[in-house]
Amino acid sequence: MTQTNLPDRSDLPTISSRFDNAQPIEILRWAVETYGSCLTMATAFGVEGCVLMDMLATLGSDARKVHIFNLDTGYQFKETLELREKIQARYGFQIELVRAKESREEMEARFGGPIYGAQPDECCRIRKVVPLRETLEGYGAWLSAIRRDQTKTRANHDLVQWDNKHNLAKISPLGNWTREDVWAYVREHNVDYNPLHDQGYPSIGCQPCTRPVQEGEHERAGRWSGTSKTECGLHFQI
Ligand code: SF4
Repeated sequence: MTQTNLPDRSDLPTISSRFDNAQPIEILRWAVETYGSCLTMATAFGVEGCVLMDMLATLGSDARKVHIFNLDTGYQFKETLELREKIQARYGFQIELVRAKESREEMEARFGGPIYGAQPDECCRIRKVVPLRETLEGYGAWLSAIRRDQTKTRANHDLVQWDNKHNLAKISPLGNWTREDVWAYVREHNVDYNPLHDQGYPSIGCQPCTRPVQEGEHERAGRWSGTSKTECGLHFQI
């Protein structure tokens, strides 16, 4: 990775406002051209991430320089891990599995069992937040697949912004899109997606902390259901 000629953090608000009405592919192209191998992307293989990877694949050889990784907590659905294989084969991407230093088994032994029920913030911190922070070190920007219409917390998210927590730029090309826009793209481009989306899971995280949603429920209602937790701490403070 080389870190020369990257935009100054003070320029990011202006850049972001330039993209206020832009399509995701324009934002993505700018991100790839600007950051190249200094660009990384975390994906949990949700439908939005699958769409971003499909768009990346259309951008040619420069897009192959983008580092893509999945935070493999040890608690993911088997369908999620199978989808990684499918995507790698389809696009020729290498998607790194990033794991916490302490295995799931070691962590459970230390706490006397799983802690996702009693201490989900600590579980997310160990299995997601710390590995993410360590993986982002040295990169100039990371791509996120969040949409502004997902939650109130995400509504004011700038498309390009400085991520103070991780000390690099954060770019959200799908920020302007709705859930319907994402699914229209999936249909038009025959994008592979997690089969759990067709079984009532609009948002997919770790298996123990994700349930299917009922008709009329919010798309993230199945994440940490029955608790006040709404974010894992990757994008927003918990
Ligand atoms: S989503 Fe659940 S299982 Fe996954 S890291 Fe967080 S608390 Fe642990």
